[in-house]
Amino acid sequence: MSLIVMKFGGTSVANGDRIKSVADRIIRQVEAGDKVIAVVSAMGKMTDDLVAIANQVTDNPPSREMDVLLSAGEQISMSILAMAIDAKGHVAKSFTGAQAGIITDGGYTKARIEQIDASRLKEALREGNIVIVAGFQGVTKEGDITTLGRGGSDTTAVAIAAAVGADVCEIYTDVDGVYTTDPRIDPKARKIDEISYEEMLELADSGAGVLQSRSVEFARNFGVVIHCRSAFSDEPGTLVKEVSDMESAVISGIAYDDSEAKVTLRGVPDQPGIAAMTFSKVSEIGANVDMIVQNKSENGLTDLSFTTPSKDLPKVTEILDAMVKDLGARSYVVDESIAKISLVGAGMKSHPGVAAKMFSVLAENQINISLISTSPIRISVIIDGEQKELAVNCLHTAFDLDSDSLFEETQLSSEELAAKAQKGR
Ligand code: ASP
Ligand code: MG
Repeated sequence: MSLIVMKFGGTSVANGDRIKSVADRIIRQVEAGDKVIAVVSAMGKMTDDLVAIANQVTDNPPSREMDVLLSAGEQISMSILAMAIDAKGHVAKSFTGAQAGIITDGGYTKARIEQIDASRLKEALREGNIVIVAGFQGVTKEGDITTLGRGGSDTTAVAIAAAVGADVCEIYTDVDGVYTTDPRIDPKARKIDEISYEEMLELADSGAGVLQSRSVEFARNFGVVIHCRSAFSDEPGTLVKEVSDMESAVISGIAYDDSEAKVTLRGVPDQPGIAAMTFSKVSEIGANVDMIVQNKSENGLTDLSFTTPSKDLPKVTEILDAMVKDLGARSYVVDESIAKISLVGAGMKSHPGVAAKMFSVLAENQINISLISTSPIRISVIIDGEQKELAVNCLHTAFDLDSDSLFEETQLSSEELAAKAQKGR
């Protein structure tokens, strides 16, 4: 008998029929003798719809109220799933984040889990229930509802798996695992059977949307094995776990991110304290900064470039306007048509020459690099957004990641995938 946490994303619970097949899937597991805690996301695009409703009344909703609103999405899917399981003759009990004992800090809309008191969940399991938990939400010590950031149900699932000592945390989604790159960009993308926490973290941080990066951090810290797999088939997906460097591929995957913009401050005085001042102002307004490059100085003036999420631009340009005046900087320019391409692989540590090869491949394809940043297992470059696909395709081939067969699933809609899975049963 195993204790399994099964997390179902929005697409898997998008309507009544899908919820019924999720119920079937859970029941099969239970009938095989396992105990199950299911964690659910909101149905389909419900979270986006709730955000849109808030935006009908204000551009700037108070974050506390936003969390009260958004947590409603998961409360709907958890109760409907419990009803579907009940209708099939099994016992299920659903719990909100607060009822499940998930205590967070007060960082509304991106709260962090501080502690989980899983006693109610454990008791419900002992009583023979299939336990269902609303993803993406928790509660502060003071009793206020919080949410864990978009995609946060993954984190709920992993945190609960850690708290109850589950054997595995299965994340069911609409793709059948983690791919070497996004199959929509490169149909030669290959499914990865096993990947280390470190590599998965770098990929998730670099724009690969499969798992929320905080969930991977949590899994690494508590040694939770994640099995990322399709809700529409029984095929094994990708295991995210401890993998020794010896066993790692040189390059595991390529991620891209086109949600950032590049800002360049021109003609800034090249003297101590300028960078400190710039970035403390930027961080005060809560904008993230990713890559930073300072160019060589001429006549005591230098250029300072950095990347920041495009959504933070309105706030960032406001401070830059003020800084141009205060610092005596000449001007600033914003380039929104950039893409970040990241090559990730733990084998980089022991194989020199990866960066050189990456840059030559890009050069051969007339792709210009404007910024570079690295970690021990990642190399990221900023290029022209128009060349994103070309860059991913040529790097994917050059680093031997191509699959022998083309990814066909991209041709199928989720409905067709579901139908295919139904037949396969
Ligand atoms: N429903 C939330 C979202 O759409 C959380 C999640 O699905 O993981 O971001
Ligand atoms: Mg997700």
